[in-house]
Amino acid sequence: MVKGRIHSIESMGLVDGPGIRTVVFMQGCKLRCAYCHNPDTWNLNGGMEVTPEELMKKISRFKPYFERSGGGVTFSGGDPLVQPEFLLESLKLCKTSGIHTAIDTAGYGDGNYDEILKYTDLVLLDIKHINSDGYVVLTGRDTKDVNLFLEALRRSKTRVWVRHVVVPGYTDSKEHMEKIAKIINEEIPNVDKIELLPYHVLGVNKYEKLGIKYRLEGVEPMNKEKTNELQNYLISLVDNYKNSIDRIS
Ligand code: SF4
Repeated sequence: MVKGRIHSIESMGLVDGPGIRTVVFMQGCKLRCAYCHNPDTWNLNGGMEVTPEELMKKISRFKPYFERSGGGVTFSGGDPLVQPEFLLESLKLCKTSGIHTAIDTAGYGDGNYDEILKYTDLVLLDIKHINSDGYVVLTGRDTKDVNLFLEALRRSKTRVWVRHVVVPGYTDSKEHMEKIAKIINEEIPNVDKIELLPYHVLGVNKYEKLGIKYRLEGVEPMNKEKTNELQNYLISLVDNYKNSIDRIS
């Protein structure tokens, strides 16, 4: 029987897809992002073990809230793609119940992407960096596996919201935005929304508790106004963005 491990469930997610979302935080992530707020989800063996059916029972309790708002369920983490079988079965159960599904991912998982995307209405895709060297510095891994997910995403035509964390001194230049725009234009034709997220330091205390060194020690939180300016600049460079905005508004 398929089982998976989850960290927690949030019933009132407002930024993890359209409408009110029930957000399932799953255990396990192969990346080690320098700014990660959820290092307690990294360990695949942590959290609580459940079957997809047990998870659905928990999700069903919140259905009246998210259904009324045009929302649904978002699988987040960690990275939900690290538990592909459990994720797939859970997505299938959601779709059988007519629930809108989203996955919040960096695209760095363990395969079966085509099948998973068949049951996914929306991907919240976190682009970590624009090149392999930067990717290694920020996440500890290279971009090879992400490219496999991007290929599957293009085949699937599942809609995408792109996200990117802006870290002062690392990912906050105009040139950086130009390169992200290039990636979106060339590799992510199904984009409906682009969000830049300013780096912040909430959650840093988790590192102390877990005894993990925090690698961005001394980096100031990203200025929100500058983040908005960069976001507008990025959006202005993305070819098919206006059309997609029409579609979701
Ligand atoms: S992909 Fe997400 S969960 Fe994994 S290390 Fe990066 S920020 Fe943390």
